[in-house]
Amino acid sequence: MQKLDLPKEIKGILSFDFDGTLLDPTTNPQLDPLFFEVIDELREQGWIWGINTGRSQMQTVAGFNEGVFPVLPDFMVARERELYTPGDYGRWKPITEWNKRSEKDHKKMFKKSKRLLKEIRSYVEESTNARWVSEEGDPAGVVATSHEEMDEIIAHIDERKSKVEMMGYLRNTIYMRFSHKDYHKGSSLAEITRRCDLDSSQVFAIGDGHNDIDMLHKDYAGMIACPANSSQEVKQHVEGQGGYLCKQPASLGVVEALRHFFD
Ligand SMILES: [Mg+2]
Repeated sequence: MQKLDLPKEIKGILSFDFDGTLLDPTTNPQLDPLFFEVIDELREQGWIWGINTGRSQMQTVAGFNEGVFPVLPDFMVARERELYTPGDYGRWKPITEWNKRSEKDHKKMFKKSKRLLKEIRSYVEESTNARWVSEEGDPAGVVATSHEEMDEIIAHIDERKSKVEMMGYLRNTIYMRFSHKDYHKGSSLAEITRRCDLDSSQVFAIGDGHNDIDMLHKDYAGMIACPANSSQEVKQHVEGQGGYLCKQPASLGVVEALRHFFD
């Protein structure tokens, strides 16, 4: 996979959620090659593009193979908050200043919310069938057995999370992870935009899940869309923001939205 030189003048930014938006595991290929044709044309006009995902950096790189990427994206947002640019020999270079700040703020948040997380964990383990998960870099999260169960858990958390001002969470289907409320796909995208010396009117964003709602917002992207397979909540949100609701699912929806905004 080839890394491309940045355009001389960057005209704008295209931000794509990965799973369910570019990748559709129910189709073969998972990502329609038409997407790369459209990207090629937009890149020639100065638009750079990136993946903005809840996956870890390594899982995202694995996804480039699943999606048979002919070229590498110009940036990557992993775990909704870690920023990377493509380096040499297939390595991804962290944007250290931002990533370090995020890490520090997360440590602070987790320290402050220790007691509250303990309470929430007891509730999850004693009153639901969901599983509490803790892993390197993501010390607290929940995997529910159904969407309904996750709705209940989220309602429980929403009632309590104001106890710790910094506490936020990122939800995607039956998964959720606790995180600092200032770090999400939207604020990550804003940092990329700032680094390119652009403003939100020069940004396009598309996504299908709950954790995309943060970037599908006029504050972060002047052009927003969601594929036809998006959750109801995302569709309502995008409609409310005056965004574009695609008729087609996943990557075909992405191509449709790009043509809608750029043709
Ligand atoms: Mg998704």
